[in-house]
Amino acid sequence: MDAFLSREDQEFRFRMRDFFQSEVPSEIRAKVSAGQPLAKDDIVTSQQILNAHGLAVPHWPVEWGGKDWTPTQRYLFTEELQFNAVPLPLQFNCYMVGPVIAAFGSEDQKRKFLPRAANCDDWWCQGFSEPNAGSDLASLKTRAVRDGDDYVVNGQKTWTTYGQYADWIFCLVRTDPDAKKQRGISFLLIDLNTPGVEMRPIITLDGRHEVNEVFFSDVRVPAENLVGEENRGWDYAKFLLANERSGIARIGLSKERVARIRRRAQAKGVWDDPLFRAEVIRLEVELKALEVTQMQILARAGQGDNTPDPASSILKLRGSQLQQRASELLMELEGPAALRAPGDVTDAHGAAEEELAAAAALNNYLNFRKVSIYGGSNEIQKNIVAKTILNL
Ligand SMILES: Cc1cc2nc3c(=O)[nH]c(=O)nc-3n(C[C@H](O)[C@H](O)[C@H](O)COP(=O)(O)OP(=O)(O)OC[C@H]3O[C@@H](n4cnc5c(N)ncnc54)[C@H](O)[C@@H]3O)c2cc1C
Repeated sequence: MDAFLSREDQEFRFRMRDFFQSEVPSEIRAKVSAGQPLAKDDIVTSQQILNAHGLAVPHWPVEWGGKDWTPTQRYLFTEELQFNAVPLPLQFNCYMVGPVIAAFGSEDQKRKFLPRAANCDDWWCQGFSEPNAGSDLASLKTRAVRDGDDYVVNGQKTWTTYGQYADWIFCLVRTDPDAKKQRGISFLLIDLNTPGVEMRPIITLDGRHEVNEVFFSDVRVPAENLVGEENRGWDYAKFLLANERSGIARIGLSKERVARIRRRAQAKGVWDDPLFRAEVIRLEVELKALEVTQMQILARAGQGDNTPDPASSILKLRGSQLQQRASELLMELEGPAALRAPGDVTDAHGAAEEELAAAAALNNYLNFRKVSIYGGSNEIQKNIVAKTILNL
């Protein structure tokens, strides 16, 4: 990639690299690199450092803290951020609700929410999925009924990532039960401290508490918290999901994992095995191909159109497959030691370096099963590609 970069872009890349390495605390970056779970404070601290230098939300409109960068610079920023193991600015704030409010929200909503989202003063979570509305999201049932100046919300959301840390949730709610499925949905911002909201933890395969269920019982939400027009929420959700999907490709992160695989393989003497080496190189080549696709999509997105790009489904699909492939190669490298390792690297106090690496491989492997499910499962991405790109 570097061979195709202008001198200006190469300098930009090195400036970003220097910044990430010198300004973001090495303890936080070491956690990301080792695949350890991050505390809320790690994510907030890192995002606030970026924001203090105007780098938390470079893809937002310039008046709300964005940068007038080229698509290549935007790509290089994200790649360097991930490659240097800096935590991504909180996805829910920066890549989901922020861009939706900037594009479709009222001026009051922009002033009230955008600066706080960019600085992670408010932690947002995503209330889309329900027990019977995941892939078929448009069949969601959580109801919002207008009553004077409020909406009254009843229903349940599930799989709410980091809901336990959140101050606000952006929700898709049904405002017109008689309209065709997609037409009766609205996009509502709900303060999680409102009476009637209850959050319950879900513990996942890897023993972590990352996701939750959220219950709403007669929750009164001021009507001014409706984003855009009533019953147009599906359009805003599609815009948001396209942003979420391109973010999920995480090419820089996969490159960081490949660099780790190389280091571990060399340390363990496995790098001399031509079959293993071929697998790693195959992964690197596939990452390069995805990178080129990502650049093309970014170039189109830079043309100022809010229409969701169906090609973001390719990024999500391929990016998640490659992240999982990297996690499998790490497991292969650690071998049976990974299966004997403590389930959580944070419990492995005093463990030898070998044991920590094995535990990180196991955590990473289990935790990354999710990437082919969230943001719309990979089967659903294939359906989108078949319909909208291949016209099948
Ligand atoms: C770790 C994690 C974090 C998440 N975080 C959030 C969050 O913060 N907020 C949020 O709103 N949601 C979140 N989700 C929910 C996620 O978006 C859904 O899990 C996802 O959309 C799939 O929905 P489902 O789980 O109901 O599965 P289902 O929709 O029930 O699907 C089950 C299986 O059937 C397949 N399938 C379904 N329909 C089709 C079809 N038409 N064609 C082919 N195959 C099909 C699916 O691919 C899947 O394999 C999270 C999920 C996970 C696992």
